[in-house]
Amino acid sequence: MKLPPLEYACPTTLSEAVALLASRDGEAKAIAGGQSLMPMLAFRLAAPTLLVDLRKLPDMREIKVSAEGIRLGAMVRWRDIEKDARLTSAHPLLKAAVAHVAHYQIRNRGTIGGSVAHADPAAEIPGVVVTCDGEIAVTGTSGSRVIQAADFFRGALTTALEPDEIITEIRLPAWPARRSWGFQEFARRRGDFAMAAAALFYDQDAGGKATNAHVGIIGVGDQPRRLPEVEAVLNGRTIDEETIARAAEVTSATVDAQEDIHATAPYRRALAGTMVERALQSACP
Ligand SMILES: Cc1cc2nc3c(=O)[nH]c(=O)nc-3n(C[C@H](O)[C@H](O)[C@H](O)COP(=O)(O)OP(=O)(O)OC[C@H]3O[C@@H](n4cnc5c(N)ncnc54)[C@H](O)[C@@H]3O)c2cc1C
Repeated sequence: MKLPPLEYACPTTLSEAVALLASRDGEAKAIAGGQSLMPMLAFRLAAPTLLVDLRKLPDMREIKVSAEGIRLGAMVRWRDIEKDARLTSAHPLLKAAVAHVAHYQIRNRGTIGGSVAHADPAAEIPGVVVTCDGEIAVTGTSGSRVIQAADFFRGALTTALEPDEIITEIRLPAWPARRSWGFQEFARRRGDFAMAAAALFYDQDAGGKATNAHVGIIGVGDQPRRLPEVEAVLNGRTIDEETIARAAEVTSATVDAQEDIHATAPYRRALAGTMVERALQSACP
């Protein structure tokens, strides 16, 4: 289908972009890479009267790595992350997850800000941002604010963003050198959205026991979530076969799963347990 009739603007400053979004009473939409929004327009799942193109906004394409953590401008594309050699050590979990995002044509255009704003429950990076206790910096007509990832995602395709707000940056806390991590995904084909995925990490105390375990599940419920019950299984224990089996069991028992055309809820719960099991087995410093 062709797009619905709409107007188009390509502002060069953030304040102009925010003012344009605010000018239509919720009927204007930002466009970044267009890889999710264009299909939604074509299928009439969204029908804004104005598209506000973010591609000329300054300072939103940079990846900053420092001792405090990582700052990804909202217009950073999947390909930029893939190519950035610093991230291999500065955030291996992010890099591993991006390798599963879409196909290379889409990775050349799709942006991290667009993915976080779109909030597809099966998208990899919202899950990584939640797992890592990331932050989302946004600017709107009433100023700038920083939203914790756990408060940002409110359900499938639903976030805490106001209609006049633009995501400017995604922030991830610093990644210690010896952290153990794993990312495992099950999708029908490589590059498809996850049917279920697990993103996790843990640190180790002097005795080799896991501390600070973070376990996130993607594509199973209506939004990415951490699983505190599974983290409690890992913290204070050696990550051996017995602990991994217990973590997988608790994942399947506690995860909130949804049914859709691809899978039943019980299948997704079982798959989530398997993803956690495999992610723990592959976790390496
Ligand atoms: C065939 C196909 C397969 C795909 N597979 C995957 C996959 O496996 N995993 C995955 O994660 N994604 C996948 N995607 C989606 C892809 O990663 C998109 O790039 C991404 O979800 C959206 O990024 P975008 O820059 O294209 O955003 P757009 O499509 O431009 O925008 C998406 C939404 O975000 C809003 N938005 C965009 N930027 C901002 C901003 N800075 N501030 C506020 N709102 C903003 C828009 O208004 C819109 O509502 C796939 C897409 C296609 C077409």
